[in-house]
Amino acid sequence: MAQTVTDRTYAPGQTVGVLITEALGRAGPGVLDYRAPEGGCGDGDLVEVPLGPRKILGVVWGPGEGTYDPAKLRAIARVLDARPMRAELRSFLTRAADYTLTPLPAMLRLATRAPGLMSGAATRRVYRLAGPVPNQLTDARFRVIEALRDYGGASVTLAELTEAAGCTASVVKGLVAKGVLAEEDAPKDTPYPPLNAHADGRLAGDQIAAGDALVAAVDRNDYSCTLLKGVTGSGKTEVYLEAVAECLRQRRQALVLLPEIALTADFLTRVQARFGARPAEWHSGVTMTERRRLWRMVATGGASFVVGARSALFLPFQDLGLIVVDEEHDTSYKQEEGVLYNARDMAVLRGAIVGCPVVLASATPSLESWANADAGKYLRLNLSARFGAAEMPQMHAIDMRAEALTNDRFISPSLAAAVTARVAKGEQSLLFLNRRGYAPITLCRACGHQVGCDDCDARMVEHRFLKRLVCHQCGATKPVPTTCPACKVEGKMAAVGPGVERLAEEVTARFPGARVAVLSSDLFGSARALKAQIETIAAGGADIIIGTQIVAKGHNFPLLTLVGVIDADLGLQGSDLRAAERTFQLMRQVAGRAGRAELRGTALLQTHQPDHPVIRAILGGDEEAFWKAEAAERQAAGVPPYGRMAGIILSGPDVAQVFDVGADLARRDAPLRRIGAQVFGPAPAPIARVRGRHRVRLLIKADKGTSLQAALTEWVAQVKLPANLRLAIDIDPQSFY
Ligand code: ADP
Ligand code: ZN
Repeated sequence: MAQTVTDRTYAPGQTVGVLITEALGRAGPGVLDYRAPEGGCGDGDLVEVPLGPRKILGVVWGPGEGTYDPAKLRAIARVLDARPMRAELRSFLTRAADYTLTPLPAMLRLATRAPGLMSGAATRRVYRLAGPVPNQLTDARFRVIEALRDYGGASVTLAELTEAAGCTASVVKGLVAKGVLAEEDAPKDTPYPPLNAHADGRLAGDQIAAGDALVAAVDRNDYSCTLLKGVTGSGKTEVYLEAVAECLRQRRQALVLLPEIALTADFLTRVQARFGARPAEWHSGVTMTERRRLWRMVATGGASFVVGARSALFLPFQDLGLIVVDEEHDTSYKQEEGVLYNARDMAVLRGAIVGCPVVLASATPSLESWANADAGKYLRLNLSARFGAAEMPQMHAIDMRAEALTNDRFISPSLAAAVTARVAKGEQSLLFLNRRGYAPITLCRACGHQVGCDDCDARMVEHRFLKRLVCHQCGATKPVPTTCPACKVEGKMAAVGPGVERLAEEVTARFPGARVAVLSSDLFGSARALKAQIETIAAGGADIIIGTQIVAKGHNFPLLTLVGVIDADLGLQGSDLRAAERTFQLMRQVAGRAGRAELRGTALLQTHQPDHPVIRAILGGDEEAFWKAEAAERQAAGVPPYGRMAGIILSGPDVAQVFDVGADLARRDAPLRRIGAQVFGPAPAPIARVRGRHRVRLLIKADKGTSLQAALTEWVAQVKLPANLRLAIDIDPQSFY
């Protein structure tokens, strides 16, 4: 399906359509007519165009409509000094916009998020380590050196360096004067170091056949999608790196998406070992300078291997030959704010449009991908055993109904005994609790009042670390009250239920002498600090690790032999259609952290329902049986992946008005009925108020083969929205909050 569109060129003065990066209203035109500038322009050119009094970024999208009065037509201000956007990326953006019902300008913004696109200076002043590092250094100077080492030899600007090291410019200048740092004018964007793809890989056992299959897919140079399924530690990364190697040998570009920035540290080390240099990195933890460089280099071929977060999918690759989505089941691939898209699905779309293979890797695939493989739409490769001596952990339930435990304790005697044994042997234990903060509820023991957020329909969560109550919806905080806000009784406020901070308190009291580390996304100021903590733990810097969801994701802790799940029932509550799937994936992933090296691991799940079918499936380990049963249930109910869904979220300050619009939409459902779709709602969203805006949801259910997007567009167009009301359409919703 590779693109064969030939790009047109336009003579000066000719009318051209320019897609601008600014939406003029939801259904407003994204493409405006302009006159081609002096010197002409061509399709895909990045241009600066006047819009009212301002100049904004746009891309030449095709011939103009010609409907606008030619006398009033303004000219493109200038063509930017950047590679034109290829036809392939343009059609990807169009198709992605159509699929997600996103205005095209918003889609274009995702693809032009490179700093300095509109400015052009060719050099910048940068700093790097140059001379020997003296033994005696002030703290501030030491931090500068550390920051530079963190950047792995990359040159950085003064602003970046002082920010990363938390010091003033004079500290850096002082190090320059001493000859420890070099200060130089460097071309802004230099190519990335070449990667050596000719060194032999080291696959073994069933990795070999899987590697061969992926290499063959790269050689076919055409779209295909492969689900690479293998238990944690089976060598999936090792296998897809062979496909990357083949892609690089073909002199094409490879993209690997990872769900979590903190994961990249381990990945970068492995790439360095395999290819002799690091790939280019694209995620929120990367400096503006690096982003700018990467964006430019990807477009000109100066970056051949990119590892990144979901937005890397929108980079202007020159010749994309492979896309890997690692941990493809991970929910963070779904962007839940702004443009609502699922990077896993969009990766498959981009692969289909470019004409390159896509690899989805996971130990616990999403039911969507499992079903596509089952239906023969995706190829499937299996790695069934852990690499080397490592074995899958043994899994057992701890029946909490039989454990003696007070209300303010969360570690059962059985689990405590297992931890004690590990600490004695010098092995690591991980206690998993998917709840940030100290306690989920702050309750008045006199009147029963629970402290909630003033702007959201949510309880405030106590964070002792911050000494505040925090709303996990909107981020609002307030001090922890000593007097009940409702009944004014003093000294009766109590923390109820566990969060990781409270668990840490219990662990410290219970295992004195053990070194305790807490991994929770909110405890780290930067992605880099989190990365550093993970490395310390992996090197043995903690005996007991307490973690939220972030520890479930692919980190390698070689000394870890015990995983204790504090509340295995947590995800089973609630009515989310994916509750069983999510719990199954999360528990299997967390358990998979144990025993990744020579030491055999054990996973213990604290549960009040040891006979729940999902808990039994997790313990039994018969994954295919679980997916088959789950698939059968979804098929019977006609829900994804065997049916289609879209969520409509209406929000506004006036609750009655939001409901009125929702009811109006529900009444005018003819366009949806025509395709056999059903409308549910309007109903208050599970979180009925966020940031003072009332939220109402409608849910649309349709059969699999229907053209849902066209019907939805026609449907919402019938209703004129009041100015302060927002409507978001979520195709294939993952969360229903
Ligand atoms: P997964 O991605 O499936 O979790 P990894 O690729 O991370 O698995 O492999 C798990 C561990 O085993 C890693 O430390 C990796 O370096 C090692 N490993 C896997 N395959 C091989 C191999 N063929 N030779 C040497 N080490 C391997
Ligand atoms: Zn709030």
